Amino acid sequence: MSGTGKKIAVLPGDGIGPEVMAEALKVLKAVETKHKVTFQCTTADVGGMAHDKHGTALPPKTLELCEKSDAILFGSVGGPKWDNLPSDQKVERAALLRLRKHFNLFANLRPAICYSELASASPLRADIVGNGFDILVIRELTSGIYFGRKGEEKDHAFDEMLYRRDEVERIAKVAFETARQRKGHVTCVDKSNVLQSSMFWRRIVNEVHRGYNDVALDHLYIDNATMQILRRPRDFDVMVTTNLFGDILSDEAAMMTGSIGMLASASINEKKFGMYEPAGGTAPDIAGKGIANPIAQILSAAMMLKHTFGMTAAHDDIAMAVRQALKDGYRTGDIMQQGKKQVGTKQMGDAIVARL
Ligand code: NAD
Repeated sequence: MSGTGKKIAVLPGDGIGPEVMAEALKVLKAVETKHKVTFQCTTADVGGMAHDKHGTALPPKTLELCEKSDAILFGSVGGPKWDNLPSDQKVERAALLRLRKHFNLFANLRPAICYSELASASPLRADIVGNGFDILVIRELTSGIYFGRKGEEKDHAFDEMLYRRDEVERIAKVAFETARQRKGHVTCVDKSNVLQSSMFWRRIVNEVHRGYNDVALDHLYIDNATMQILRRPRDFDVMVTTNLFGDILSDEAAMMTGSIGMLASASINEKKFGMYEPAGGTAPDIAGKGIANPIAQILSAAMMLKHTFGMTAAHDDIAMAVRQALKDGYRTGDIMQQGKKQVGTKQMGDAIVARL
């Protein structure tokens, strides 16, 4: 079986991280039984709690475990207790950014799925949302303007946006290959009417597309893209873009779903090694109460099965079970609607496992 013996580094982190992670692990256990596979899950310290215990948010032992694993299932890190640490020790920077850099996780996959059952949570008009939408924003994560030369002089400052051919080629390939497993449609988002680096980006994406003639490709300028996804979200499948534009577009798409507790994410490298985590943070306002929505963490685990382990059937099973739990009326507080059953973190996890 393709998933047999796969090693997973489990890093729950702070706040609601451990609570929602427990439910994702329950779901993985159920997948083991159903799909006759085994996962070797090993838990390690990360984030603020690791800083308290070991004096660093990413202890060497944790990094070592990640290096020996096939994927990282990450919770979330940070919280008010650690807000005043010096900037080089800030837990998000010290843990998350270091892991991204260390493993060269250049492709950030951010699904923005609005389920028909939760369509009323979207801030968009009902006739626009229809039966929901499923957009996957693929953002280049390790290059572009955030990593270019930067500086400030007395009377000017600058940030350089530079993309190399290989950087554009590899992210374009991820987009086309991912689209093949979905609706087969990629929208390339850039600003090639103004920026030289965008003209280059678009040209390379078009070149890579020649190897993927079964996938439809179209192009939008970033300013138009931010409008079009609000006007016609159901027309989009995969959107691929640069680090800066992807930062903005993925947050806009997430907001359109109306529920941060539902959104998963993946950051992967060329060997398909990946770090999988919820799009939201540690939710200090509800941590420890057993009421956080575990679906983002569960869907992050599902993405890991698909993108790192190639277990598409197991991914689809989890997605269906989540959908069925929502259809059957189960809701955590953040997505509660009138007439539905309000449940806590654990009960939502149980409801999903029962439908696998
Ligand atoms: P947040 O995402 O933690 O919370 C924003 C709001 O969304 C809160 O009201 C919270 O209760 C709610 N929310 C988030 N996830 C939820 C879930 N699963 N179920 C129900 N409700 C949920 O963002 P924030 O308040 O800006 O940040 C809190 C802490 O998390 C900060 O220390 C921040 O640095 C950190 N953070 C970490 C990550 C990460 O580890 N990847 C990402 C974002 C923020």
